[in-house]
Amino acid sequence: MRYISTRGQAPVLPFDDAVLAGLATDGGLYVPETWPTLSAADLRAMRGLSYAEIAKRVIRPFVGETVAPADLDRIIDETYGTFSHRAVVPMKELDQNLWLLELFHGPTLAFKDVALQFLGRLFDHLLAQRGERVTIVGATSGDTGSAAMEACRDRSAIDIFILFPEGRTSEVQRRQMTTIDAANVHALSLQGTFDDCQDMVKAMFNDADFRKRMNLSAVNSINWARVVAQIVYYVSSAVALGAPDRSVSFSVPTGNFGNVFAAYGAKRMGVPIDKLFVGTNRNDILARFFESGAMTMAAVEPSLSPSMDIQVSSNFERLLFDLYGRDGAAVADTLTRFRQEGTFSVSENALNSVRETFDGTRVSDEETLAVIKKLHEGTGEILDPHSAIAVETAERLRHLAGTSPVVALACAHPAKFPDAVERAVGLRPALPGRLADLLDRAERQTSLPNDLKTVQDHIEETLKR
Ligand SMILES: *Cc1c(COP(=O)(O)O)cnc(C)c1O
Repeated sequence: MRYISTRGQAPVLPFDDAVLAGLATDGGLYVPETWPTLSAADLRAMRGLSYAEIAKRVIRPFVGETVAPADLDRIIDETYGTFSHRAVVPMKELDQNLWLLELFHGPTLAFKDVALQFLGRLFDHLLAQRGERVTIVGATSGDTGSAAMEACRDRSAIDIFILFPEGRTSEVQRRQMTTIDAANVHALSLQGTFDDCQDMVKAMFNDADFRKRMNLSAVNSINWARVVAQIVYYVSSAVALGAPDRSVSFSVPTGNFGNVFAAYGAKRMGVPIDKLFVGTNRNDILARFFESGAMTMAAVEPSLSPSMDIQVSSNFERLLFDLYGRDGAAVADTLTRFRQEGTFSVSENALNSVRETFDGTRVSDEETLAVIKKLHEGTGEILDPHSAIAVETAERLRHLAGTSPVVALACAHPAKFPDAVERAVGLRPALPGRLADLLDRAERQTSLPNDLKTVQDHIEETLKR
C-alpha cells in the first residue's frame, strides 16, 4: 500500500513514512494510491467480532508490511483497552431507524481518543524501530490538547508540549491537561489567546534550526493514521446494522471534515453506505458548500459546540482530490485560489456527484439546546452539543436515506460541556467514574509569557533534564 499527495508533487510513501511525515512536502495530504476493499464475505465474517478484532481487519491492509502483524495487533489491543465501555463504541437506538453511536468512552471523553490513542502508540512504535525521538508541540483551545496528551503519555520516544490560553479554557478542560501524571507530558499555559498559542506553534515550526534540534512533530487531524482508525467504527456499526445485506447512512458533526472523510473512506472500501449527512453549527462553510457547490470563507464565530468552530476544513482536500479525478495540480490550483480569494466553486457535475452521497445542514445554538431537551424528554438520553447537532441533522435529512438506518455520531460525553447541557435540561451531568476525582487531582503546568524565545528556551531546558 503506497500513499500519494493530494497535490501531486510529493514523494510517494509507504504507510510508516506517510504517518511520520503528517503533511506532504508539497503541502498536500496523503491518501492511498488505491483503496483496499472489503468484500461482502469479509463484512459477513466480521459479524459478532469484538471492536478490536474488526479494527485489526480494517487497519491491516492500510499498514501493509510496515508494521509486523503481531506488533499491530498488540497496538490495537492496547488502544481499545483504554476505553471504559466493554463495547468500545456502543450503539443505542434513539427512534425508529435512528441510532446513536457513542464514541466518547475513551480517556478524555471525546471521539478523538479513538484515533489518537492508536496514533500515539503507532508513532512510538515506528520511532522506536528507527531509534528516533520526537518532540510534539501543539496548541489547543481545550479539547484536542488533552486527547493528544493522553495518547502520548508514557511513550518512550515522544515528548509532548501543549500550549493553551491561560484562563480561557474551562476548569475541566484545563484539569484534563494539567493532571496527567507522566514525565513526558507538559502543559504550558500561555499568557495569551488561542490564536497566540497557534501562532507560537507555527513560529516554532518555522524556526528551522529549532525544529531540527528538537525534531518537532505534530499529531494533527490530517494525519493519515487518524483517518484509518476512524474508518473502523463506520465498518463496525454498519456490520452491526446488517451490512453487507443492508445499507446504512451516517450523520456526522463536522469541523475539520476528518471524521466524515473516514466515513467516505469506509464507503470507498465497499461498505454499503448510502448517505453521509454533515452537520455544522453557525460556522457553516460545509453546509453552504453542499447546498451550492461554493466554498466561501467567513469569520469563525464562537458557538456551543466549540470543537466545530472551524471554517477551513483541512481534510476536505482529500475529497476534493477525488472530485477532481485525482488531479493533484488542479487541487493545488484551487486551494491557492481559495487562500487568495477566500472562495472557490466546483462544477455542477462535480456538485451533483458529491450530492449523491453527501448533504449538509446548519444547526444554531438555540436549535442545539432544543434538541438536547427534546431527546432527554423523549428517550432519557443526555447529549453534548456536538452530538445534538448530529441528531438534529439526521432528523432533518433522514428522508433522503430511504429505508436505510441512520446512525448519528455522539462525539463527546455530555459532562465535557456541562454549561450547555444545564441550559438545555436543567441539570449538570456528572463526570464518569474514571474522571470522578478530576477536581481533586494535583495539577502540574508552567505558565509562560507570549514570547517565542522564552517558550523555546523552556522546552529545550525541560528536555535536557
Ligand atoms: C473534533 C470534534 C468534532 C469535529 O470533528 P472533525 O474530525 O474535525 O470533523 C466534533 N465534535 C467533537 C466533540 C470533537 O471533539
